[in-house]
Amino acid sequence: MTSAPILDIRDIHKDYGTYQALKGVSLSVRQGEFIALVGPSGCGKTTLLKQIAGFEDATSGTISIDGRDMAGVPAAQRPTSMVFQKLALFPHMTVAENIGFPLKLRKVAPGEIASRVNEMLTLMELKPIYLDRFPRALSGGEQQRVALARSMISSPKLLLLDEPLSALDVKLKKVLQSELKRLHRSLGVTFVHVTHDLEEAMMLADRICVMRAGRILQLGEPSDIYYRPADAFVAGFIGETNLFPVEVTGRKVGSVHYSSTAFEDATGTLPADAAAENASGAALMNVRPELIRRIGPKDTADCAVNAKVTEVFTKGGTVQYRAHTPQGMDLAIEIQGTSQLPMQVGENVRLGWSKKDIWILPAGEA
Ligand code: ATP
Repeated sequence: MTSAPILDIRDIHKDYGTYQALKGVSLSVRQGEFIALVGPSGCGKTTLLKQIAGFEDATSGTISIDGRDMAGVPAAQRPTSMVFQKLALFPHMTVAENIGFPLKLRKVAPGEIASRVNEMLTLMELKPIYLDRFPRALSGGEQQRVALARSMISSPKLLLLDEPLSALDVKLKKVLQSELKRLHRSLGVTFVHVTHDLEEAMMLADRICVMRAGRILQLGEPSDIYYRPADAFVAGFIGETNLFPVEVTGRKVGSVHYSSTAFEDATGTLPADAAAENASGAALMNVRPELIRRIGPKDTADCAVNAKVTEVFTKGGTVQYRAHTPQGMDLAIEIQGTSQLPMQVGENVRLGWSKKDIWILPAGEA
C-alpha cells in the first residue's frame, strides 16, 4: 500500500479561448476515497473531470494518477473510467456487448470477456435475461446500471461520475445512490462524483469539494463543509443557514473574542477552533437552522434573540420557520418532529443557540 495520493492535481488551468474555466485547481485524493464535486452551474466541475479523464488537455498544471504524470497519456490509456449524465450506451449493441465493449477494445479473449461481463452483471444486480436485450428495452435505472457495469469492467483506478443520477426520478435515484455507496465500499475504487444534489453529496462522499468560478473554495468532510464553511458562499450553497454579522475583536492562544449587535448580550469568547483562521474584524456567525431552538422568557442560552414568527412550513417530519428580529434579520429555524413547542405565525418568541454550535467565518470571500 502506498500513502501517495491516487489522484494528485496541481495548479490546473484550463482556458477555452479567452475564457478561464479552471483557474488554478489543486486537489489530492486518497486511494479509495469518495469525493463529491459540487458548485453552481458553469463553475468547472465537468471541465475538471475531462482533464482527469484526458478528454482535454489542460492549459497548464499537472495531473498524476497513482504516482504517474498523465501529461501526454491519451484517455484510453488512463486508468480512469467516466460515466456521463446522458447515457452513452451504444443503441445497436446488446447489454452484454455494451458491458464488454471496453475489454473488446483491449482485445481481451471472448471467453474472458463473457466471464467478466457476468461478474459485472452480478455486481450491479442485473438479471442474466437482460444480456441479450438492447438498451431501448431497459428502464432508465437499468440502463444506468449497465453504464456503471461497463465503466467498472476494465477495473479502473478512478471512476469519474458526471451527474449519473440526475435524470432519474426521485425513488430510483435513492435506490441507485445506495447502489453507488455499496459499489464503492465493495470495490475499493476511488470515486470522483459530480452532483447538483447536495443531500446526495452529503450522503455518499467522504469529502466534498465545493467549486466556484473555476476555483476550489473548500474541500472537507461533509460535516465540516456544513457546520464549518470557509466563507459565506459555501455556507449558503450547502444549505439554508443564519449568518449573524459579528466583529472578531481579538484572539488569544486558544480563544477568540467577538461582539455583535445582531442579538442580545453579544460579546463572548469561543475556543479558537470555533472560528476560521482568516476571520478577523468584520465576520459572520454561522448557526444552522436546526441548531436554533425556542426558549422560554426566563430560560438562559449562550446567545438569544427575540423574533416574530413570519412563516411556517411543514416538510415531512420537520417544521421550518421564518422569524424576523428587531435587529432586522430574517432567521431560518428548523424543528424536528414534536421535540419542541410549535410556533404560530405572528407569535413573538425568544430563540436561543449554544456556543458549541457556533462557527465564525470571514465576511468576505475565502
Ligand atoms: P454544470 O453544473 O452546468 O454541468 P459545470 O460546473 O460542469 O456546470 P463546465 O461544463 O465545466 O461547468 O463548464 C465550465 C465553463 O466552461 C462554462 O462556463 C462553460 O460554458 C465553459 N465551457 C465548457 N466547455 C467549453 C468549450 N468547449 N468551449 C468554451 N467554453 C466551454
